Amino acid sequence: MMFGEERKAVVEASREIFERKLTVGTWGNVSVRAEEKDRCVITPSGMDYMKLDPEDMVVVDLEGNVIDGRWKPSTELAMHCEIYKKRDDVNVIVHTHPIFSSVLSVLKEDLPPIIEDMVMLIGERVRVTEYTLPGGKELALKAAEALGKNNAVILANHGSVCVGSDVKKALTACEVLEKSAQIYFYAKLAGKPSTLPKEDVEKLIEASKGYLERWGQK
Ligand code: 13P
Ligand code: ZN
Repeated sequence: MMFGEERKAVVEASREIFERKLTVGTWGNVSVRAEEKDRCVITPSGMDYMKLDPEDMVVVDLEGNVIDGRWKPSTELAMHCEIYKKRDDVNVIVHTHPIFSSVLSVLKEDLPPIIEDMVMLIGERVRVTEYTLPGGKELALKAAEALGKNNAVILANHGSVCVGSDVKKALTACEVLEKSAQIYFYAKLAGKPSTLPKEDVEKLIEASKGYLERWGQK
């Protein structure tokens, strides 16, 4: 089977987002870029995560053409392709509909640099896009632009997208984003949240390079 490893990785990651309750039902989607950098493997649209097998995955090129697959690819295919085209360092994209990130998506409020792990894994802030309907080129462009160099972006009135160089980093970014959004929500309820000083944000991002390299070593 073409792209067997990537298909398996997408199946496992999509089960994880469901089991970790980062999404409900069949919403959300996952893709993994193939070694040939202009191809990726993506989840089919609207199918039960717990019933998916590697052969249900769809192989596409970065123009959105289906290379192999018997099902319709995710409706957010254009968004995945746009991010891969803009970000050479990204090999995994995970789109979910988690609660606290979605609170910010409804408030249309960026998540500022409030906490260490968020800054180290995701970047200096998580921006919220302008609202647009799901599934189109417009959402793709808005999401890729608001993502910038960070590893997460919030889609207005919709959910979040997290990216990484590998599955572990992209999935952990989903959890760190959701945890940070939850902390921010409670901090706002309890008082006025503080943010990390700009120079420390830069130092944390610098320190994260060596720190995250060790994740793949054992
Ligand atoms: P798919 O099931 O088509 O991937 O779409 C779900 C979704 O979350 C759309 O934004
Ligand atoms: Zn969605």
